[in-house]
Amino acid sequence: MKKHNFSAGPCILPQEVLKQAADAVVNFNGLNLSLIEISHRSKEFIEVMENARSLVKELLNLPEGYSVLFLQGGASLEFLMSAYNLMKVDGKAAYLDTGAWSTKALKEAKLLGDVDVIASSKETTYNYIPKNYSIPTDIDYLHFTSNNTIYGTQFKEFPKTDSLLVCDMSSDIFSRELDFTQFDLVYAGAQKNMGPAGTTLVIVKDEILGKSGRDIPSMLDYQKHLNADSMFNTPPVFPVYVSMLTLQWLKDLGGVKAIEKLNEEKAALLYAEIDRNPLFKGFAAKEDRSLMNVTFNLTDEATGEVFDKIWNAAGISGIKGHRSVGGYRASIYNAMPIESIQVLVDAMQQFEKEI
Ligand code: PMP
Repeated sequence: MKKHNFSAGPCILPQEVLKQAADAVVNFNGLNLSLIEISHRSKEFIEVMENARSLVKELLNLPEGYSVLFLQGGASLEFLMSAYNLMKVDGKAAYLDTGAWSTKALKEAKLLGDVDVIASSKETTYNYIPKNYSIPTDIDYLHFTSNNTIYGTQFKEFPKTDSLLVCDMSSDIFSRELDFTQFDLVYAGAQKNMGPAGTTLVIVKDEILGKSGRDIPSMLDYQKHLNADSMFNTPPVFPVYVSMLTLQWLKDLGGVKAIEKLNEEKAALLYAEIDRNPLFKGFAAKEDRSLMNVTFNLTDEATGEVFDKIWNAAGISGIKGHRSVGGYRASIYNAMPIESIQVLVDAMQQFEKEI
């Protein structure tokens, strides 16, 4: 039975990418060697790394002066690494607290300096994006999370500051066209719109590095990774390769502009059903609704068993909400086809008929 994978991450990847990746594990580029048994210093793998890095630049339209790294440790290590590289000794940073991931990010930064949480939506279980906060001027950087995977909220407009702007874009990178010149540092775990877990994409404006006045441990130092062309140590060869394939898939599809249009259509279809169907209510504030993670609850929790049976029977997988929010979360990342969303909408309508 066909499965419709709404998992929040790791999550759906394009079928053709999975097939190509599987082939390369057995026989990479006709070498009769596996991708995962050749040297990362071989010309074949260096080509993969360089291709992946340049696809990121091309797809995101990164200007000169920005570099791309594929690191390890997940977005969670970036919580610390971003602070290590940018927080000055005796420095201070501002954080927007829009969910569990922001909270974890600022916890790490607190190890290194003062953290000013300038706005938070914690009191309403992070169901909206704070607005109208004021941003201090005496900060080393401002950090925010562009898409809040657990709660289904997404920044539509980004904070404006003369200080450095740092963004955790783990769950919506490559989903919409953005002007990257507004950011100084962006990071994203691969396992949503890019590839398998195991590598983290980092985009950094070169000129911001080397100014913290800190001794940075080598593996946490962006400059060291840059100097080594993202091969300071053995890179995660398989996740980088699959990321490269996914980025190529996105390019062939028409790039970020094309996927953005599809993502808008997909989200509109699902949110329209949530708003129309009296058995459901959306979790996130309407103006802040995410195009990637659609969160919704039942109007009557007691009906849950009936709905769960219906969507399970339809081959739907991974829509149970995060334990802190309850209800449902349909993650509809780039690789999710609109047909699968229609299957979910049909299940919601069948539920309405049956109840
Ligand atoms: N930030 C966001 C927005 C996330 O969604 C996640 C994970 N889902 C993380 C950070 C943590 O990523 P990782 O597991 O790669 O450390």
